[in-house]
Amino acid sequence: MTRTAIYLDHNAASPLLPEARSALVAALDLVGNPSSVHGHGRALRHLIDSARVHIARLAGAERKQVVFTGSATEAITQAIVGGAKSFAADAVVISAGEHAAVGKAAEASGLPVITVGLLADGSIDLDQLAQVIGEAQGNLLVALHWVNNETGVVQPMARINALVGPTRHTLFVDAVQALGKIPLDFAASAPDMVAVSGHKIGAPAGVGALLVKAHADVVRLIPGGGQEQGRRGGTEAAALIAAFGAAAAAFTERYEAAGVAALTARLEAALPAEAVVFGGERLGNVTNFAVPGVKNSTAMMGLDLLGLSVSSGSACSSGKVGPSHVLAAMGVPGALADCALRVSLGWNSTAADVDAFTAGYQSILERQRAQGQAA
Ligand code: PLP
Repeated sequence: MTRTAIYLDHNAASPLLPEARSALVAALDLVGNPSSVHGHGRALRHLIDSARVHIARLAGAERKQVVFTGSATEAITQAIVGGAKSFAADAVVISAGEHAAVGKAAEASGLPVITVGLLADGSIDLDQLAQVIGEAQGNLLVALHWVNNETGVVQPMARINALVGPTRHTLFVDAVQALGKIPLDFAASAPDMVAVSGHKIGAPAGVGALLVKAHADVVRLIPGGGQEQGRRGGTEAAALIAAFGAAAAAFTERYEAAGVAALTARLEAALPAEAVVFGGERLGNVTNFAVPGVKNSTAMMGLDLLGLSVSSGSACSSGKVGPSHVLAAMGVPGALADCALRVSLGWNSTAADVDAFTAGYQSILERQRAQGQAA
């Protein structure tokens, strides 16, 4: 098989959209500081304001509810660490399937952390969540993800909203993997705060946003010079924000045009019969699967040699393949979880990409079987 270069890791980072690239490059040529009142400053301010309109539109939010940050991790930390103070929370409730950004922010809040389990299908155990809420003595800050980055499992957000919304407790949602793929209606729905990220929808990394309702005006992590209506200090990264806005305007149409769900179905239909696919109700762009006995570290190396980029779960900063806390929480035995590969498709994925993966994985399987027989 000849070496190709095929990207099947959109949940880690989505390739730059052409619209975002153009906006980024155009904005890089602008001079000045968006807070300056002169013409140069006003041009940058205009870019930021336009981007805010696009993010607000995509997330069903009001413009004033959008606070730009340097990443979703920052937005999440602001929501949880800042939110814990603002709402005088007594404990933070997370699920066992959260991204490290949520788990570590909960730890950093200094409050007790209550972890609700996942069911075998990857969904959050809502009976357990209801019990935690029912038994709460004080105020809870409930921080849950909408779409799981490792499995693509879509959490029952309407039920979570119905469970937490009418209570005195605060609800924060990590919508990083949902933005642009599932309709969000922030202004009209229960969450007090929602975090989103640029680089999951075709903008560069380094820009995110916290959506926040007026009553949830969280304690600032970065007060600084009063930017973002005093909610996040630091001179705005106008070029990245402009790219985020352009990506928000273009992403959903491109994602839908790629026919991602059909491509994922094609991939799953071609998996070996013994493959186990993890997760029940999933977003149509992720397949997290394992073939017993085929270790993900070996498979990923073999696929990489063929120019096929996939992942074993979340892209961890060490670059190592570690055990998945999400699969463990779903009750997947460790030996099977060690074989789990995540293939995540996106706006520029094609049937040829999927077929190259199928052929590449098959060749690794055959090689491993031949070596097993020779041994
Ligand atoms: N939450 C989820 C579900 C994610 O998938 C990610 C990124 O992988 C993050 C949070 C963190 O986003 P960022 O890289 O913008 O900090």
